[in-house]
Amino acid sequence: MSLCCFGAFKSRRNNNGHSGRDTEETSDANVRLFSYNELRSATGNFGETNRIGRGGFGVVYKGTLRDETQVAIKSLSAESNQGLREFLTEIDMISNIRHPNLVQLIGCCIEGSSRMLVYEYLENNSLANALLGPKRKQIPLDWPRRAAICMGVAHGLVFLHEEAEPPIIHRDIKASNVLLDKYLVPKIGDFGLAKLFPDNVTHISTRVAGTMGYLAPEYALLGQLTKKADIYSFGVLMLEIISGRSSTKALWGEDMMMILEWAWKLRQENRLLEIVDPETAEYPEEEVLRFIKVALFCTQEASQQRPSMRQVVEMLSEGIGLDEEVLTQPGLLKNKSHNSRDSGSGSQSSQPRKGKWRTNRSTLITSTNLNMTPITMTQMQPSLQGLPMEASIIMQ
Ligand code: ATP
Repeated sequence: MSLCCFGAFKSRRNNNGHSGRDTEETSDANVRLFSYNELRSATGNFGETNRIGRGGFGVVYKGTLRDETQVAIKSLSAESNQGLREFLTEIDMISNIRHPNLVQLIGCCIEGSSRMLVYEYLENNSLANALLGPKRKQIPLDWPRRAAICMGVAHGLVFLHEEAEPPIIHRDIKASNVLLDKYLVPKIGDFGLAKLFPDNVTHISTRVAGTMGYLAPEYALLGQLTKKADIYSFGVLMLEIISGRSSTKALWGEDMMMILEWAWKLRQENRLLEIVDPETAEYPEEEVLRFIKVALFCTQEASQQRPSMRQVVEMLSEGIGLDEEVLTQPGLLKNKSHNSRDSGSGSQSSQPRKGKWRTNRSTLITSTNLNMTPITMTQMQPSLQGLPMEASIIMQ
């Protein structure tokens, strides 16, 4: 049974003061509410065969609604402390956001302690699987496809940053949050989760707050969250798309470098095209070089030097000259053994292989950890004395 579809939903206040679906206030919310039973039958009782993934928020199931629409149902494993009304308001806002490069939120289910989000279903799974996953899950991506994926994600971010009202900072741009539809059109997922789970909901903020390998240093170390943090992550993502290598497998290669260090080193040595995935048989060198350079512009250490997403789209398009004179070194979460003078060289070949990373007042994460499951933000609270432990949001 659907509790309410596309229209004002009714809620009444219980005697105990909790708002719930059986209370009497009305809301202008325009979100589709599903009952637990409806989603249970859509997913064959949340059966194993319908399970398509698991993320930081919980398990994701494929479901088929009664009208045959295919959906992805994300069950949220943790309970939010937010009130029901606030939760619904946020969902309502996000479900009204529509863009070809954003995964559409269709509705939600809130019953007892169950909270589920219902999304449009994307046939080709995540870019992480298609590009970086096990061979059997990979999808051959030639250069035009890779370029189109970069552009599509860029357009989605332009929308979130510059057209959505209020603007939305995604906070977790990465390959597993980019889903591909049947035509391989990329769609950014999870863009509303940062809103649904604000920082004070500590038990979930890990997944909201970012993933190691994509984190802008000023966000990871100082807790300064701006649109430029998304732009940094987008730059890293572009390098992954071009190179076919994961940024979360942080240390690899003969010098044990991160993808960004490697790209910068190749740039210094005029060998940038060596970063291109060997699987990309043929490609237009000039265009590929442009894309790599735009990625480097996005990942510059000084956040104010990074372009806006609208500028990124322009820079990726032909006909706009890139002023490489102003390109500065990428921002990296530095190995503790580096002294500050190392950071400007771009050459990291003297870097020890098992160093420690300064990320937390009390925790030092060894580089070996970085090869495993992506590390999340809770483990990376700002490390400098006197700075806020929770990320502050600064809109730029
Ligand atoms: P994290 O929670 O750390 O961000 P994640 O992005 O992989 O990780 P989820 O967004 O929960 O986690 O998604 C888990 C998996 O479920 C995805 O990798 C993808 O395979 C699948 N998935 C999620 N949403 C959809 C969707 N709308 N259509 C098809 N598959 C989906």
